[in-house]
Amino acid sequence: MSSIRTTTDEQEPTVTCSELLEQIQDEEEELDRERALYGNCDVDTCTYSQGYVRRQALFACMTCNSNGQVTGICAACAYHCHANHEVNELYTKRCFRCDCGNSKLIHQPCKLYPNKDPENSLNKYNDNFRGLYCSCKRPYPDKEAATNDDEMRQCIICEDWFHGQHLGVPLPMEDNQMDIICQACVSKYSFLANYDDSHSAIQTALIDNSVAVASNNQPCLLSNNTDNNSEVHTIFLRDGWRKRLCRCAQCCKLYDEFNLTPIFDDEDAIEEYQKQALAKSENLDADKIIADSLENLGYVRKLEVLSGIHEFKKSLGDFLREKANSDGLLTAEDVAKFFENLNEKRKEQQKTMFMPPDTCKF
Ligand SMILES: [Zn+2]
Ligand SMILES: [Zn+2]
Ligand SMILES: [Zn+2]
Ligand SMILES: [Zn+2]
Ligand SMILES: [Zn+2]
Ligand SMILES: [Zn+2]
Repeated sequence: MSSIRTTTDEQEPTVTCSELLEQIQDEEEELDRERALYGNCDVDTCTYSQGYVRRQALFACMTCNSNGQVTGICAACAYHCHANHEVNELYTKRCFRCDCGNSKLIHQPCKLYPNKDPENSLNKYNDNFRGLYCSCKRPYPDKEAATNDDEMRQCIICEDWFHGQHLGVPLPMEDNQMDIICQACVSKYSFLANYDDSHSAIQTALIDNSVAVASNNQPCLLSNNTDNNSEVHTIFLRDGWRKRLCRCAQCCKLYDEFNLTPIFDDEDAIEEYQKQALAKSENLDADKIIADSLENLGYVRKLEVLSGIHEFKKSLGDFLREKANSDGLLTAEDVAKFFENLNEKRKEQQKTMFMPPDTCKF
């Protein structure tokens, strides 16, 4: 990120904004991440009654799993029933039912939903529940690693996490938006290799789920593909890949046999989960947290009440970003202009709704 050199003419005090901007950005990013992950969670209700939840934020209690058990617990149980334990965040997992207090965790009764069946037979447990990740089977964060900078990626099939350097193939340039399927899963479901977006075998065959209904008449998109000589490796899938999957009768049968049909449903996409979580957490006290970070600016308090902190935050962010992208110099005049504009905006709003006047003491 470019930093803003702040200066005015020599005599005036300088205004430092680069740190402020960075702080706002960091907190916004962290907040967005948490909202996307936990916005769907009701922190006081165990999800057990919902059965095998399509996708939920999940946790593994290392304290309780230490006796050789592998179990997973919901967010509310992590919070209420395992509060002083060592709890690992597992991000989201699909089709899982909370184990808190069942026969596998009998020594730690569930405070929220005590009468569970002894076991959840459909739950799947990979090594993440034991605190190990990737093909290298290391904990995360890894205390013995020189650095934990290598961002981990989650395989959309087995839901294990992989170090970028252990994917077996170099990350494509545009990889950030791409889903991955790990080498082990590609070797298990070899037809998936045809969909690798880093080699464009059937990329041109763009079809839409909404019109491509499985039928015996639809030709298989993979039938002409004779590319069998390539070795099995991690594959990358570009945005919208679920819509590009072949939906011919034969392929659909294959998906069913492998229990992949739910994973190939648009609704399974992590983006869908995040969208809902963000929508639900819209009114989270995010603004207050941001406002607290701005507390050192005395006049902000008043503005946040009158103008709404959201409006302020957005305007300030836009303003600072704009400055950073142009000359990078922030003058006292700029700051004055910013507040003048904000004031103007506020006056505009006052015309359309009741707002206390400037002189109001309350
Ligand atoms: Zn629970
Ligand atoms: Zn525990
Ligand atoms: Zn519980
Ligand atoms: Zn690894
Ligand atoms: Zn996998
Ligand atoms: Zn097909």
